[in-house]
Formats: sequence, C-alpha cells, structure tokens
Amino acid sequence: MGNDDRFIRVHSDSSGFGSINAIYVDKVTGVQYFWRGLSYGGGLTVMLNSDGKPLLYQPLEKNDTDPSAPQNVCAGCRNPISSNARFCSMCGAKVNS
Ligand SMILES: [Zn+2]
Repeated sequence: MGNDDRFIRVHSDSSGFGSINAIYVDKVTGVQYFWRGLSYGGGLTVMLNSDGKPLLYQPLEKNDTDPSAPQNVCAGCRNPISSNARFCSMCGAKVNS
C-alpha cells in the first residue's frame, strides 16, 4: 500500500486455515475498523470504545493536549517530553527516536 491510501493496516494476525484478524484505520477520521477474513470472504465492523463511540487510533491524535494522557519522559533526566519533540528540553538528549 502506498502513502496515499486512505486506510492503513495497523494490526494483523492469523489464526491459520486462511483466517485473519486485522485492524484498519481511516487516516482522515482516525476511526478503527476490525476486519475478520476467512478464505473467500470476511466481515468488517467499526470498533467502538466503552462509551459506544468510534474507537480512534491514538497515534493520529497529534494535537492531543489531554493532561491525563501518559507522557514520555527523558530516559536521562526524567523530564516530560512532548510526543512530537525530538530532543529533551532539559538535557538535550535525543528522544522519540
Ligand atoms: Zn533529558
């Protein structure tokens, strides 16, 4: 699949006999879809969270500022690091590599 595809596969596993479980993400909305494939067919369903809302693929939420969200910390000085930072603002160590 190329980079221009709207849907990306973020997970897949096979349990044998031609069956496959896969999760696809709509890159525009971030909504996840579960695909259950069998040898000549399969089924697709939208994935929901416990509130019944579409389950979004978290890595696509780049502007997430929720303070309760887990944060990365620098391995050297334990300084919190934003998810898009490339270097620690405290010690300058390379992060998120
Ligand atoms: Zn640091």
